[in-house]
Amino acid sequence: GLENITDREEDLKPRSPVVTVMGHVDHGKTSLLDALRTTTVTDAEAGGITQHIGAYQVSMPSSDRKVTFIDTPGHEAFTAMRARGASVTDIVVLVVAADDGVMPQTIEAIKHAKAANVPMIVAINKIDKTGANPDRVRNELLNHEVVVESMGGDTQEVEVSARQREGLDELLEGISLQAEILDLKANPNRPAQGAVVESRLDRGRGSVATVLVQKGTLKRGDIVVAGAHWGRVRALLDDRGRQIQKAGPSVPVEVLGMTGVPDAGSLFVVVENENRAREISEFRQRKIREKATAMQVAARGTLDQMLARIQAGEQKEVALLIKADVQGSSEALAATVEKLSHEEVAVRVLSTSVGQITESDVQLAKASNAVIVAFNVRATTQARGLAQRDGVDIRYYSIIYQVADDVEKLVKGKIAPKHREKFLGYAEIRQVFSITRVGKVAGCYVTEGVVKRGCGVRLLRDNVVIHEGDLSQLKRFKDDVREVARGYECGLSFAGYNDLREGDMVECYEMEEIPV
Ligand code: GDP
Repeated sequence: GLENITDREEDLKPRSPVVTVMGHVDHGKTSLLDALRTTTVTDAEAGGITQHIGAYQVSMPSSDRKVTFIDTPGHEAFTAMRARGASVTDIVVLVVAADDGVMPQTIEAIKHAKAANVPMIVAINKIDKTGANPDRVRNELLNHEVVVESMGGDTQEVEVSARQREGLDELLEGISLQAEILDLKANPNRPAQGAVVESRLDRGRGSVATVLVQKGTLKRGDIVVAGAHWGRVRALLDDRGRQIQKAGPSVPVEVLGMTGVPDAGSLFVVVENENRAREISEFRQRKIREKATAMQVAARGTLDQMLARIQAGEQKEVALLIKADVQGSSEALAATVEKLSHEEVAVRVLSTSVGQITESDVQLAKASNAVIVAFNVRATTQARGLAQRDGVDIRYYSIIYQVADDVEKLVKGKIAPKHREKFLGYAEIRQVFSITRVGKVAGCYVTEGVVKRGCGVRLLRDNVVIHEGDLSQLKRFKDDVREVARGYECGLSFAGYNDLREGDMVECYEMEEIPV
């Protein structure tokens, strides 16, 4: 079909870079996007005001070239798009407030940009403020392996003030320079393909999807499929709300005429006729239903899917996200597993960091098809829920060689792990008793899930694993019981282990067979 055309080198023409702005909350992402939006002085007839359509274009101050900005700042949208298979961003502008410096979401943004292999330009914002200290920002970035040009690195940095509109031209020039390095090209003379950036149901106009054309040219009257929806393009509107006839590569447009509202991040393609469009969208709808059912039946970990792909020769890379209790362990683990790369399959560590597994880690792993290696750390309740829902595999370890062992098996495509850990619940130790001939017994309260007889346990003190083993006794009052659910008290003792304290948490799990 039309969607499978391959482009010849001589058909490729330069296209505008597509930029996503990321950074910590309140560092000025929205202000910067607003300031850039009205920076197009060369476009006299337009009067400067753009519509909010999810993306817009700005003309370069010194040439007629353009830059496309995605108008949804932050790494959530960026990662959600990637998770659906759309990689539209060519360059990330990382906004860091000069008075506040590198903050948690700055670090998240760096991780997400690196995982996606998208180059960054640092915009040090709010330099108009009295407390501004751009050099501190440069130094703090060093701690996260971002070395700016003025410190001898290769990441461009620009000092800006979104409020005073300073440094905007320099930022645009920087983007243009980076775009030249990337040598961005696309074939404009073919049926269009691209991604949905935003979509909504409008009362008067029906389905309105903002799409970014990535290849080819989208025209009025084209038949498009986006995600599981399709339609004939009834109208195309540019970022100023003007009706246009066609849109080429890197041009964002609003598309009217789809039969449904495709999700942001869905890929769209132009196809030859309505029958083909129906066929593809029905196939995809069926797939979505099947996937939903399959997820209800058994949430299959990505590790197993990965193994299947490696065995089939379809996958050449194992991506891992490493979280550990201390920096030293995460680095040692990364070094150990990266050495396991061989000709056919590479091990790629997307990021190493310290602390609990958060939702952001799960999103990153999902977008990158990565497995999370948790070394002596836990996942937050929210992160665990998200991982379960999205089929992201979190593997818990406390011994380095076990990690190496599992990864080695995986890259060699050898054996499928037959069992995996299934989380059962948490119990909090509220009292510790010494009982003759039995040892220490913990009087506990089940705070989440269930505790089962004979299950695997980890003892956590201040969120650090201090013991791992099995439950030797589970009692309600004087009786041995099979299981105790959330909201109930119970007595626990641990095989061969007695260092128990009030406030310790007991994490319970069992091993389950991986469904094939
Ligand atoms: P976002 O959360 O990253 O999108 O940040 P916003 O764009 O909403 O900005 C957060 C706050 O910082 C707002 O009160 C802005 O007016 C202010 N702000 C943004 N850029 C600048 C700047 O360059 N200078 C100063 N002084 N304030 C700014």
